[in-house]
Amino acid sequence: MEKPRHWSRRSFAAALAASSAASPALIAQQQSVPQAEPPRQGTMPEVPPFQAPIEFARNPVAAKVEPFPMTQVRLLAGPYQEAAEWNRGYMRRLPEERLVRNFLVNAGLPTSAEPLGGWEQNTPGNAGELRGHFTGHFLTASAQLWASTGDKEAKAKGDAMVADLAKVQDKLGAGGYLSAFPTEWFDRLDARKPVWAPFYTIHKIMAGMFDMYQLAGNQQALQVLEGMSHWADTWSASKSEEHMQDILNTEYGGMNEVLYNLAAVTGEDRWAKAGDRFTKKRFFNPLASRRDELRGLHVNTHIPQVIGAARRYEISGDLRFHDVADYFWWEVTSARTYVTGGTSNGEGWLAQPRQLAAELKRSSATAECCCAYNMMKLTRHLYGWTADPRYFDYYERAMINHRLGTIYPKTGATQYYLSLTPGAWKTFNTEDKSFWCCTGTGVEEFSKLPDSIYWRDGEGVYVNQFIASELDWAEKGFRLRQDTGFPEQPGTTLTVTAAKPVQMTMRLRVPSWMHSAPTVKLNGKVLDASASPGSYLALSRVWKAGDKIEMQLPMQLHIEAMPDDPKLQAVMYGPVVLAGDLGSEGLTPELIVGPNAPRLQRLPIQVPVFKAAADPSSWIKAGDKPLTFRTAGQPMDVTLAPLNTIFDKRYSVYWQVS
Ligand SMILES: [Zn+2]
Repeated sequence: MEKPRHWSRRSFAAALAASSAASPALIAQQQSVPQAEPPRQGTMPEVPPFQAPIEFARNPVAAKVEPFPMTQVRLLAGPYQEAAEWNRGYMRRLPEERLVRNFLVNAGLPTSAEPLGGWEQNTPGNAGELRGHFTGHFLTASAQLWASTGDKEAKAKGDAMVADLAKVQDKLGAGGYLSAFPTEWFDRLDARKPVWAPFYTIHKIMAGMFDMYQLAGNQQALQVLEGMSHWADTWSASKSEEHMQDILNTEYGGMNEVLYNLAAVTGEDRWAKAGDRFTKKRFFNPLASRRDELRGLHVNTHIPQVIGAARRYEISGDLRFHDVADYFWWEVTSARTYVTGGTSNGEGWLAQPRQLAAELKRSSATAECCCAYNMMKLTRHLYGWTADPRYFDYYERAMINHRLGTIYPKTGATQYYLSLTPGAWKTFNTEDKSFWCCTGTGVEEFSKLPDSIYWRDGEGVYVNQFIASELDWAEKGFRLRQDTGFPEQPGTTLTVTAAKPVQMTMRLRVPSWMHSAPTVKLNGKVLDASASPGSYLALSRVWKAGDKIEMQLPMQLHIEAMPDDPKLQAVMYGPVVLAGDLGSEGLTPELIVGPNAPRLQRLPIQVPVFKAAADPSSWIKAGDKPLTFRTAGQPMDVTLAPLNTIFDKRYSVYWQVS
């Protein structure tokens, strides 16, 4: 049985001296990944780690590395900036009045705004039970847009929403309660009567308030959040632990996480203790004991709870919570994740681990976008604890294949599921009649693309993603520019555009998908030193303006087969998932815009079966455009292109091969 933590840790060579020709002052070395601690097995299964009542004691764990704040990173021209602009356009088109309308109605305050549709619908006879959730996502996205671009209009809109929602909170006069639906829904939750997921929605609004405070400096948002937290604390404190555990069987988003975040910024333990009441013990116990009991669970109900566990570890040092997050991430990414970095089918984990081919056959609603969004969020926590570059192998895979390419060019509409059923096509939300959960995480994702490109520690900068961007480390007077068309262009160039000069270490991530150490040039001269795939190349010197690093990132074709069906295979080129173009016959706008998953039964198709040799380059040949290929010698040949560039067409990622 495969154990967690054993990511085939490589032993690394000792530090290499740099070429003296390059620079006598340069120390280049392959940074070794910290030695793995002996695997901790967790508490013995017969003693569930979370059995006893949970006690909170503040004992913050220092992060090993931190991301640069988005205010210090700007995207430059390229596919990421395009996606960010499409999203910004969509956010601009949604009027503030419509976004707060359901809240005003709930408080009996006047509004003439036109109701939103879809999950936000609130008209007689057709009222959505998650209404208000998108407003919370939009607050987060507005705060992020402000931080990542300095867009004053986005901040003003977010501020106006906070002010309107504060009035609603006041008018409701229910101990801090703030929602677009009445407290009666929480009575139903308490009585275990049917209700969708009221805490899920409340969490989105609380998280939006937290982000408007933390990223956009809105003090009123903090007050509103403290009011809402007071209400949630009071409500949850009135339940017995046994009853609260039963209540937690209803989806509640990341209530634990937002309360821990509030405890961290205010220094008040009360909020962390309230957060602890949102610990679903029957879910955490097996994870802390390193057992996969995920089958049958709804995926995106649970990932946010694990992000909360990660946050709980960070503010308390309680290793049980560390183990929950660490094991969960390992298990999901290694045993329950498709080639794109996505997980879930029909929103659940439907099979045992490493049974993905079986799971894929269950429905075409593969890989919910919220799940990728939240797994990437969890990844950032785990990376911050360890600085292990291999967390960014997963992050990059999900970013390139499951985030880029799920936003529709120009309109900024996003997807619910990224279907991996052979013959599928991408479907997108409508302008104002969808508002799925993934529309919410969609506006969040594409308003924060500059996040996590660059990280830092006491020694210097980590370059983790190859995205055209500029870093302004104002405190050090250090500016770095990254020019790249990656992945279309297999390499990146980093130029120091301002420096005092300053002694520091620049660490360049060498992705695990590379077949060998990359060629790296400093100021035009090839360095003797490089680093193995899955590590960092660390360059230490006194940096000055004009210094230039060029790193080659050559890619190769490779095959990834399903763990439970070696003859069901996907084709990758470097980190890029290639999809076969199966044409657009029969696809109409109604089949593309509106449905949350492709209705394959309405449009059946024959998907080719390939005669495949072990070496993909023997039957897949380079095409006439970058990252484009064509099969050769097959009964029916197809063109392969990056999944993230395919729109309004049918495609296949997985192929039956003989
Ligand atoms: Zn979703």
